[in-house]
Amino acid sequence: MRVCREISRWVTENVQRPLEEWIERTERRCREQPCNWWCLCCNKWFCFLVTFFVRVVVWVTVTVTKLVTEIVCTIISIVLDVVAAIVNLILSIPVIGGIIRAILNWITDIVLRIISIPDLLLSLAGVMIPKKIYVKGVILNANGVPLTNEAAIMPSITLASQIFLRECNVRLIYTGTCTPQLSTPTEAQTIDCGSSGFFADLLGVQGAHFEFVSADCGFENGFNRVVGYASEIMVFVVRDVQPPTTVGCSFSSTHNYVTIEAANLTSATPDTVAHEIGHACALTHSDNIQNLMFPNNARANNTMSAFQRAWFRSSKHCVFV
Ligand SMILES: [Zn+2]
Repeated sequence: MRVCREISRWVTENVQRPLEEWIERTERRCREQPCNWWCLCCNKWFCFLVTFFVRVVVWVTVTVTKLVTEIVCTIISIVLDVVAAIVNLILSIPVIGGIIRAILNWITDIVLRIISIPDLLLSLAGVMIPKKIYVKGVILNANGVPLTNEAAIMPSITLASQIFLRECNVRLIYTGTCTPQLSTPTEAQTIDCGSSGFFADLLGVQGAHFEFVSADCGFENGFNRVVGYASEIMVFVVRDVQPPTTVGCSFSSTHNYVTIEAANLTSATPDTVAHEIGHACALTHSDNIQNLMFPNNARANNTMSAFQRAWFRSSKHCVFV
């Protein structure tokens, strides 16, 4: 679990390393101090003895702390992962699962937006503290054959990383690409980006399949997807997005996924993924051709306005840890 690794890293950076530096400094001082010959250098020996003792205490404390954290964390995360997997499976049931999913997503979205108000205000004032957003690729298949491969997704992911870091100080953490074995049902191969698509997601096989695959590919992030906070955005590579001129789709902030046409990944417009992630964080279209949220591929520089930056950062997907 991510939080466990963060705790361990925090202990290393804020406790272990400063103490080790202190020990090294003290040892140097011990070495450099003049010897008191009248007691056979007892001052130096005593000094070394103290630092040795501190070194042992630090080592034992840090090792025990890390071990306990890891054990407790592992137990908690296994329990949470299992609970989340069960919840996510329930959410994969067509109709009822879809409705619960939508309500859950709306509630978590609103609650986490409210919690993010201080960051929203700071960002509007131009102060953007580093944040992270987690993104995973998911390659669907047609008749069991994967639609593309990871290498084809990477230029889009790299470009999205550059845009969000430059525009909003949000670091995109790519958590890999998943190619589920499960055969993709026809309903989930073609996405209608209009209102019928919204209902296909809410009530149909399409949404159920996406949720099921998310639970499988994003098992480690399952609990985050239930509570919304730091939920990964899954970039689903699909066969086709309708209407014909549309190459990517996001049903906005009520979903933890976006879709992109397989064919689009090899075209000259790798900014579609960044654009769709923008929608997933509740950004709407802009009529400025320079802007990331300009609705078609003619967009030029993928800039973001001050409000878009603040609004994007206050999404449940953008987090501090
Ligand atoms: Zn759009």
